[in-house]
Amino acid sequence: MSDYRIETKCVQGGYTPGNGEPRQIPIIQSTTFKYATSEAMGKLFDLEESGYFYTRLQNPTNDMVAAKICEMEGGTAAMLTSSGQAANFYSIFNIAGCGDHIVASSTIYGGTFNLFSVTMRRMGIEFTFVSPDCSDEELENAFKDNTKAVFGETIANPALTVLDIEKFANAAHRHGVPLIVDNTFATPVNCRPFEWGADIVTHSTTKYMDGHGSAVGGAIVDSGKFDWNKYADKFPGLTTPDESYHGVVYTERFGLGGAFITKATAQLMRDFGSIQAPQNAYLLNLGLESLHVRMARHCENALAVAEFLSKHDKISWVTYAGLPGDKYHALAEKYLPNGTCGVVSFGVKGGRKAAEKFMAGLKIAAIETHVADARTCCLHPASATHRQMSDEELIAAGVSADLVRLSCGLENKDDLIEDIAQALDQI
Ligand code: PLP
Repeated sequence: MSDYRIETKCVQGGYTPGNGEPRQIPIIQSTTFKYATSEAMGKLFDLEESGYFYTRLQNPTNDMVAAKICEMEGGTAAMLTSSGQAANFYSIFNIAGCGDHIVASSTIYGGTFNLFSVTMRRMGIEFTFVSPDCSDEELENAFKDNTKAVFGETIANPALTVLDIEKFANAAHRHGVPLIVDNTFATPVNCRPFEWGADIVTHSTTKYMDGHGSAVGGAIVDSGKFDWNKYADKFPGLTTPDESYHGVVYTERFGLGGAFITKATAQLMRDFGSIQAPQNAYLLNLGLESLHVRMARHCENALAVAEFLSKHDKISWVTYAGLPGDKYHALAEKYLPNGTCGVVSFGVKGGRKAAEKFMAGLKIAAIETHVADARTCCLHPASATHRQMSDEELIAAGVSADLVRLSCGLENKDDLIEDIAQALDQI
């Protein structure tokens, strides 16, 4: 499957049935798996053989869907998690612990910002946030001796900044650490960060991948390219014996292609248990089968809406990297030549009050915290997802008080524009 193009991988990746086997992926609705001898099961607990024994760690349905996402991103190994939050937490906690430090883009999703700056800080991991537009010098100065990774979003939610992946990857590699990219908004249909130097990719599959607002989920994919052994002293969890598995060394036993995901499964999934339900993995797979068709329509609708808004006299500003005049258009042309995403951010003249009135007047777009699915929806982040941030943090996150985030769905674009026009007329 790896030679096929992304559209074919979306439809057929991850699962190839044999004769008489189900055409659609089976939902293995079982917490547990049968073995004939204790010895056979013991080999699984020593990581000597691969196999399933308990769905808190691994389930065959999940693995089929993870394999599809792995092929779509061009990675070597992947796993599903119960949510995007779990994916981002695992991606860092798999290689960093108390006393370590991470460099992260300041415009990341508010929930991830909170996870990093509050919860993971309480666990003893320090974060330095840098603007995605920072100079080479600022980026260089953010690193410390104990830095273990760099983290950013391909297209940030909701600031819609585009990450200069090559620049961030080069800086990370100069300091002997991996670049982790949350590729939720772009999806591998529009950008494959591994092709630009990223080492680990994460997803909130809750968004475009599922695409229908049906199932919360996440995914982590490893490129297999980062050489943990070269920087063995920085990553002892991957390069020294794990006593909880009778001294297995992940990089030795599973190679660079498998070490990261095996460790995250064998340790973090075992201990935290943020597994995706196999039913949800099945729904996610249905979404993935049409992802390439849907992304093109999301982008077409969003561009038409962004063009309309940018000419409207009641709109103070519009951010959409697909617009030729946008600050991130050049980066989008480089990293996202086929389209960016379906989300447009803009300011309504008159600030917060006008934004609220506008949103209340919309008939097609519902007010939701959710984003990136088939139905158009909108949100005022400063009073919802980013409510916990101070004014300074809001500015650093690229979220002004008047920002409205409109997630363009798959409806007719003229209907969307007419709906927006009538809601603006009411202000
Ligand atoms: N990453 C990004 C870019 C997101 O937009 C979100 C949620 O909106 C998350 C991660 C968290 O994902 P989840 O809600 O699936 O936990």
